[in-house]
Amino acid sequence: METAQEVLCPCCGQPTTVFVDCWAGNQDYVEDCSVCCQAMVLHIRVDDYAVSEIRTEPIGR
Ligand SMILES: [Zn+2]
Repeated sequence: METAQEVLCPCCGQPTTVFVDCWAGNQDYVEDCSVCCQAMVLHIRVDDYAVSEIRTEPIGR
C-alpha cells in the first residue's frame, strides 16, 4: 500500500510529497524535489507497515 508522506527538502527547505510503499519495508532511495528539482536521498523507516521515520539529506557532490 502506498502512502503519501510530506518531507522537507534539504536543498530548498520546502515541503514536498513523496509516495512510500509501506509493504517494501525500510528503504533508502533518491527522489527529485518537486519544488527545486534537486536530487535528495530519502531514508525511510517502516514499522508494522506504517512509516515511522523519514530523513532527507542532499546528495553530496
Ligand atoms: Zn527542493
